[in-house]
Amino acid sequence: MTTSVLVLGAGFGGLELSSRLAQELGDQVEVTLIDRGDAFVFGFSKLDIMFGKRTPEAVRLPYRGLSTPHVRFRQETVIAIDPEARRVVTDHATYQADVLAVALGADYDLAATPGLAEAGHEFYSVPGAGAVRDVLPSFRAGSAIVGVCGTPFKCPPAPSEAAILLDEYLRQRGVRDDVRISVVIPFGTPVPPSPATSEAILAKFAERGIEFVRDRRVTALDPATHQAVLDDGSRLPFDLFLGIPVHRAPAVVEKAGLTTGGWIPVDPGTLATRFPGVYAVGDVTSVGTPKAGVFAERAARVVADQLIARIRGESEPPGYDGTGSCWIEFGGHEVARVDVDFFSTPGHPTGTFTAPSARTAQEKVEFGTSRHARWFGGATGRGGATG
Ligand SMILES: Cc1cc2nc3c(=O)[nH]c(=O)nc-3n(C[C@H](O)[C@H](O)[C@H](O)COP(=O)(O)OP(=O)(O)OC[C@H]3O[C@@H](n4cnc5c(N)ncnc54)[C@H](O)[C@@H]3O)c2cc1C
Repeated sequence: MTTSVLVLGAGFGGLELSSRLAQELGDQVEVTLIDRGDAFVFGFSKLDIMFGKRTPEAVRLPYRGLSTPHVRFRQETVIAIDPEARRVVTDHATYQADVLAVALGADYDLAATPGLAEAGHEFYSVPGAGAVRDVLPSFRAGSAIVGVCGTPFKCPPAPSEAAILLDEYLRQRGVRDDVRISVVIPFGTPVPPSPATSEAILAKFAERGIEFVRDRRVTALDPATHQAVLDDGSRLPFDLFLGIPVHRAPAVVEKAGLTTGGWIPVDPGTLATRFPGVYAVGDVTSVGTPKAGVFAERAARVVADQLIARIRGESEPPGYDGTGSCWIEFGGHEVARVDVDFFSTPGHPTGTFTAPSARTAQEKVEFGTSRHARWFGGATGRGGATG
């Protein structure tokens, strides 16, 4: 008997789940993978686009050719989900499956921050990062803010990375002395689970003259005065605003009644939703780990392993452990790593820091290369640190 699995979203979570099921189960499974896009882009590639290191074209991993005998890829937009019936309507067809996995990620709500679309930029999408790349060459003096507009947001170290890379970019152009860089983050430290990581980032900020505005969130931009309004009412002037927009679960997920408090609640061990046969992984959930690709991928692997064990009649595999490693760009072609554990001591995530080095930068390249190979059958390093 063949088990049909419908996977919504071909990001980190959806790609890992579908490829693992197909590779392990072959004919025993029929996976349909749906995404509105035509290519996958690693989140960290947006930093490369933004600073002109790679073009958007160079970092795309096209979904064409992803279909194998056991995975059917469909470029369609999901417009309705009925989790009770495990039925999904897209702009092209209606699907029903034995197992439904929601991996639709997080959408950005620019309108939630008045003035952001008019007076600022976001670098969290490919078009947004491309727009920043286009304005950076003419930015020579004034105040630059990297500002977080809401929590939770993807890849908590990314605002710090953006500030460090902006400093480097401006130095290379010889204009750094004429620019003030501030980072506004709604946490007390850049990476709260790991004091050592935060200390290293704060030391880098101090060395580079980057101002850290802690425990604050940007609520609005005033296009008339070019000031960012913070959540305590204070204002910071800006000439360049690089924002991390408010994140939301995709509207189709909310409409389906899958969310509570904005995100999909799941069993933290199994990633099961309250609907039988329906799982959710990655940024769209409130599982308790950060919104980052490494966590989405690990959660997807746990779902895949449960399904594989069930179909083979084997015993239940270990549950999701809430661990993952995040890479952090430190400039000068050096990358640091933080290995975080969110579940071992509930409510008290911990992290171990590996100092920035060229060796860890190479590890990040290999991370991308291995995913490219696993998901797309590719052999090159297109998805690596520079791609
Ligand atoms: C600047 C930046 C740097 C980052 N750096 C890192 C890093 O170094 N390490 C790391 O682990 N993570 C990093 N991330 C975060 C990472 O990219 C995300 O957390 C990760 O992609 C989440 O995976 P996911 O599978 O949950 O969702 P996604 O990868 O976002 O995939 C969701 C998919 O669903 C599709 N979709 C959404 N709605 C619909 C619809 N209605 N119909 C059809 N398809 C739909 C989307 O097109 C998308 O392909 C970074 C992110 C950014 C922005």
